[in-house]
Amino acid sequence: MQIKKYNYIDLGSLIYPLFIQENQKAPSEIISMPGVYRHTMASLHDELLYLQYLGIKKVLLFGIPDVKTDQGQSAYCAHNFLTKTIEYIKAQFPEITVFTDICLCAYTLHGHCGIIDKDSSHIEGQATLSALSEMALNHARAGADYVAPSAMAKGQVKAIRSKLNSFGYDDVKIMAYSAKFSSNFYGPFREIADSAPKFGDRSAYQLNYKSKVNAILKIDQDIKDGADIVMVKPALSYLDIAKHVKDKFNYPLALYNVSGEYAMAKLGAEKGLWIERDFVDEILTSMQRAGADYIITYHALDVARWQKKSQKRKFDYAECTAI
Ligand SMILES: [Zn+2]
Repeated sequence: MQIKKYNYIDLGSLIYPLFIQENQKAPSEIISMPGVYRHTMASLHDELLYLQYLGIKKVLLFGIPDVKTDQGQSAYCAHNFLTKTIEYIKAQFPEITVFTDICLCAYTLHGHCGIIDKDSSHIEGQATLSALSEMALNHARAGADYVAPSAMAKGQVKAIRSKLNSFGYDDVKIMAYSAKFSSNFYGPFREIADSAPKFGDRSAYQLNYKSKVNAILKIDQDIKDGADIVMVKPALSYLDIAKHVKDKFNYPLALYNVSGEYAMAKLGAEKGLWIERDFVDEILTSMQRAGADYIITYHALDVARWQKKSQKRKFDYAECTAI
């Protein structure tokens, strides 16, 4: 049996989330997530240059609109600040693979992931699928390489695949948030886009962490519906699910190392509880061991920076001994 070694985290497997805020004058740091910013176009440009220099070539874009509405129309109108951002990145940084989040929660006043029926206060299935498919199509037109539906709407992968294909975007791939659990670990993320639900919660469409069966069923369905990558989210408390999914389906698997996991690593390091670099390395290695082909992580930039630093140190040592 071949023993797999995990010396370095493979930078090619890391996907770095980026937040773009419409009409913002200066970038703003997320208080609960040190080092993570809501970007302007100018600060995004600088960040992408830096990512490129460090060797991170995959990004996942989230839009934060100026105006939220009941039905979140600005998410799926033909041209918006996010489609412009995608076009800009693909023109300026063609070697960067662009993934885009497909969901309505940052764009709706109520903060839910779909369109709500006013009378029943439930998600309207068909209207939500139409909105998500339209949003995905607009991102594909702008140049996105992957669209990543995260609304957990029933049939979202099938509807998006069919919409993309009918407009000739067969080559645009889908990374599906297949097993997305209703989790305590999302707390800091909701500060980013002010996207906490204003009534109820997301347990009606996100998975209960006490049940494993539904996660496996969702993954199975998304593969059948045409997902190119399936995802388990969050990552750290769900490595058993990840391992099970990898063993059962042997399919490209992404894990989302979410905001609460990131905040825990950062804030603990700030308090001197552990060395951040070692702590993060241990966590990301465990995700690789569980079978992750891709890890979506806010630590990507730090990991690349640490690797660059240690390579430089090795180089300096060699140079020194040669003299
Ligand atoms: Zn959402």
